[in-house]
Amino acid sequence: VSALPSRAELDAVAARFFDVGKRLVAPSVVARDRAASFDRALWRALADAGLFRLEGVARRGQALEALVRGSLDLGLAVTACAHFVAIAVVEQHGSDEQKRAWLPKLEDGTWLAGCANAEPGAGTDLMGLKSRAREREGGFALSSRKWSVTNVGACDFALVSARLEGAPAREAMNIFGVETAGARRWMRLRSDLTGLRTSPTGSLLAWRAPLPPHALVGGRGAGVKLFRLMFSEERVTTGFLYLGALKACLERGVRHAEQRRQFGQPIGKNQYVQEKLVRMRVAAELLEAQLWRTLERMAAGDDVHASLSVVKVHGIEAAIDAAQDLVRLLGSLGVSVDEPAERLLRDLLGLSILGGTVELHKIVIYDETVRALSPTTPR
Ligand SMILES: Cc1cc2nc3c(=O)[nH]c(=O)nc-3n(C[C@H](O)[C@H](O)[C@H](O)COP(=O)(O)OP(=O)(O)OC[C@H]3O[C@@H](n4cnc5c(N)ncnc54)[C@H](O)[C@@H]3O)c2cc1C
Repeated sequence: VSALPSRAELDAVAARFFDVGKRLVAPSVVARDRAASFDRALWRALADAGLFRLEGVARRGQALEALVRGSLDLGLAVTACAHFVAIAVVEQHGSDEQKRAWLPKLEDGTWLAGCANAEPGAGTDLMGLKSRAREREGGFALSSRKWSVTNVGACDFALVSARLEGAPAREAMNIFGVETAGARRWMRLRSDLTGLRTSPTGSLLAWRAPLPPHALVGGRGAGVKLFRLMFSEERVTTGFLYLGALKACLERGVRHAEQRRQFGQPIGKNQYVQEKLVRMRVAAELLEAQLWRTLERMAAGDDVHASLSVVKVHGIEAAIDAAQDLVRLLGSLGVSVDEPAERLLRDLLGLSILGGTVELHKIVIYDETVRALSPTTPR
């Protein structure tokens, strides 16, 4: 991450994508959520608004927070997060040939991209993945079964992790850039999800699928290094989604608390109601401070591995609490599908699993804490 943009520039990004979210995305979110459909035209409209030309994780995160607040569509924002992660990997580790071939289509929205790591037998323990690539004349043959992956139900391009057969252990894990329309590969949409239904989550099957030599990203054995980049980009950008959701809950909650009258006065006069809104405000401010502090430390080259896990644990738990409190605060309206509260809650449950579960992040935080405070304890 290079130096952070100025506050004025970030405010302008936020204003632009709040407006895009409100005007273009919000009007159809209820219908798309009900139908579990991903709208390609809307995706192109986001690209046309310049979303995928934004540079650096700070601008991207800021845009996504504002998009969520304007649209209340966490599914589409998750789709954009995964796409951004793929762009970041190609930008930072792609060869000149890969950048020339892939980046223009990723930036102008011609392509939708995903990052396919999870498999039926490898979720939290990603190193258990079984996908294999074999070197063959003219490139590689990929055999892979990726499961429950953002965008991999409709995407044109995916970064796919696989072990390279016959490679020494330190070169075994690799990432391949795969055009999904090629031979011997199939995608399937997951339609059973209760949350993030406006995002095309799905599976990818490849059976001895031929890949050209330039499909290998970052050189032989770059897999683990690229995992680290994918995880840190994903953790920052999803952190902004939790923040957008928290602020959206607070804004909707305050409006209702001031307008809805019971016992002859606005329900916001009631301290049990105020407490819910105050907790949302406190959680949002703390998350925002933590996110920007982490970005500053990333820009300075610090190791922020555990801090990103703090963002996840605090952010997702606070956002889920806020969405649940908003459901309650809205009374019977809170469980209406026309209100954002229950959709946000369902979407946030999906987000709590994507990008590593809360339990995984607690393991990271604990290990780093012990390392820092008790460096002599063998781990
Ligand atoms: C909506 C959605 C989008 C997704 N998008 C992507 C994507 O873009 N790319 C991708 O690669 N994957 C994606 N995933 C997959 C996601 O990364 C995995 O689902 C996640 O890592 C958990 O894996 P699992 O589902 O196999 O659960 P499991 O690994 O089977 O875990 C089940 C439970 O056991 C707990 N657990 C496991 N091990 C431990 C341990 N050592 N200590 C304590 N608790 C433990 C977990 O925290 C969890 O609560 C997505 C998933 C969802 C739901």
